[in-house]
Amino acid sequence: MMKLLVASSSAHKVAELSRILMADHVMVDLVNLSGVPPYPEPVEDGSTFEANALIKARAGFAATGLPTLADDSGLEVDVLNGMPGVRSARWAGGHGDDQENLALLLRQIDDVEPARRTARFVAAMAVVAASGETVVRGVVEGVLTSEPHGEHGFGYDPIFQPLGATRTTAQMPDADKDAISHRGRALRAIIPTIRALAAKDET
Ligand code: IMP
Repeated sequence: MMKLLVASSSAHKVAELSRILMADHVMVDLVNLSGVPPYPEPVEDGSTFEANALIKARAGFAATGLPTLADDSGLEVDVLNGMPGVRSARWAGGHGDDQENLALLLRQIDDVEPARRTARFVAAMAVVAASGETVVRGVVEGVLTSEPHGEHGFGYDPIFQPLGATRTTAQMPDADKDAISHRGRALRAIIPTIRALAAKDET
């Protein structure tokens, strides 16, 4: 079975990706960063989600020779001109402090009326292999609630209510979130590329 490196140190994201691939019966042997010799983390200095996903996937492929899948994602808030965007993970300063990031964002939009609290989760997903590079994007539109609700998911999930839903993505069972999420959509868009690589098996 083809090995596919998932170049992400987020256990949440790796779990989401493998869940979605399994649900689609994609037969690959997913390897995470702890399953390969350590290599330096690349600097994610792209100004778009696509650029950062490619930076991570290229670094993984260059270091290991394995076909590598990487994503970059974030939340775009309309009243903040699309921010936090590519800065979503480090919005409150340090990298990956989900609670601080969420609390800061809520304070920033405290006085914004419900109709103008529109936002979207965006994910870019890149695969880099010997035969080339592919990058795709998935989006889910929604609105931000004024208080956190729900225990599932991570990051900004407790305040993100997808359009048409009555719950936040943190109140949804995993499978419901996967069906509509930005990462679910991006991953499903790149599955044909993964299947084509697996059919050729470049590892
Ligand atoms: P990345 O690890 O550079 O892709 O950063 C993604 C950041 O965007 C995370 O730290 C979260 O704050 C936010 N984010 C991305 N996807 C999601 C999601 O599905 N739910 C909640 N927050 C997310």
